[in-house]
Amino acid sequence: MKVLVINCGSSSLKYQLIDMENENVLAIGLAERIGIEGARVKHEIPGMDKVVIEQPMKDHKDALKIVLDALVDEKHGAIKELKEINAVGHRVVHGGEKFSGSVVIDDEVIKALEECVELAPLHNPPNLIGIRAIAELMPGVPMVGVFDTAFHQTMPSSSYIYPLPYELYEKYGIRKYGFHGTSHRYVSARTADILGKDMNELKIITCHLGNGASLAAIENGKSIDTSMGFTPLEGLAMGTRCGDIDPAIVTFIMEKENLDIAGINNLMNKKSGVFGISGVSSDFRDIEQAAEDGNERAQLALEKFDIRVKKYIAAYAAVMGGVDAIVFTAGLGENSASNREKICEGLEFMGVKIDKEKNNVRGKEVVVSTDDSRVKVLVVPTNEELMIAKDTVGLV
Ligand code: ADP
Repeated sequence: MKVLVINCGSSSLKYQLIDMENENVLAIGLAERIGIEGARVKHEIPGMDKVVIEQPMKDHKDALKIVLDALVDEKHGAIKELKEINAVGHRVVHGGEKFSGSVVIDDEVIKALEECVELAPLHNPPNLIGIRAIAELMPGVPMVGVFDTAFHQTMPSSSYIYPLPYELYEKYGIRKYGFHGTSHRYVSARTADILGKDMNELKIITCHLGNGASLAAIENGKSIDTSMGFTPLEGLAMGTRCGDIDPAIVTFIMEKENLDIAGINNLMNKKSGVFGISGVSSDFRDIEQAAEDGNERAQLALEKFDIRVKKYIAAYAAVMGGVDAIVFTAGLGENSASNREKICEGLEFMGVKIDKEKNNVRGKEVVVSTDDSRVKVLVVPTNEELMIAKDTVGLV
């Protein structure tokens, strides 16, 4: 069975065609700058040179047409005809409280997704455009929606409710939803496999550390708390997002800097985090380099990032009454040994002992704690696309 996985962002579209017989990736690519000048599709068949198709695309449907043509192209295609694609799996950011698992997409699901737009105004509209475009371009092919929020729907109300007037939860659905759920689910399942344990006997803390970053506390295979909230702004200090701050700062800055709602949203989402503190970059590689070169603000940004991850780890261990495994994933989590080491430093009191040599690794599934470390520490590269494809196969 061949599954096409689609991930539509505001001006981009990532895709993977996966043969689920052997989980081989047949094609992988990215359409970017959709709707603006310089639009292009970067298309790759593993083992062959990457092809760049530069062509105007006014919207995601245009982009998808080019992607589908590329998939069946004589020279750089992966299949002979589109009929070979048995199903399409869509990443959908927000499923609200309606979706606690992946679903086959029908008219009713589309309607429910439209109702979730208010909760994710930047993310859900492009997801919906992708779904509609596939329905039009590949009529009759079953589609599945896999939600970033779904995995966290198991959180108890004490985790998801905010200490605000309860009516606001009832009226507007203001509560913690959590994101990166597909990634937390994937790496926690892999962790159980790697450790040869049943999910039901494990307390796992998963650290998805990329440009956007979040932690999840996973007990018996279920998410019971996570650091992102009503939106992906809560929690850790991220590439450009501030994460947790005193909420009174928001109105204070608005007044002092004369900012409107869009202005303050932009400041908290795009100008803060490690970028805001360091003034160097939102990319951790640049910040690590600057810190090494003696830039004190870059050093401070890294310290702030690490200490917050550490605090969440300790908090989640407390919430679960212990922890068996801490897992690092995503761009930074998979690649930065120094970051992992700094985060785990000082957690020896909890039974966490990193093996510096084993930890000197990037992008591989590996246990990086010492043999006598009571808490296992792992690096597990995330694979949201494979998870989406697996759910798609399971449902169709
Ligand atoms: P997102 O999907 O949220 O954009 P990724 O998971 O792709 O994020 O992670 C991107 C981040 O990973 C980059 O900002 C970069 O800082 C970090 N990263 C990637 N490789 C390395 C590395 N070798 N060392 C340190 N950080 C890295």
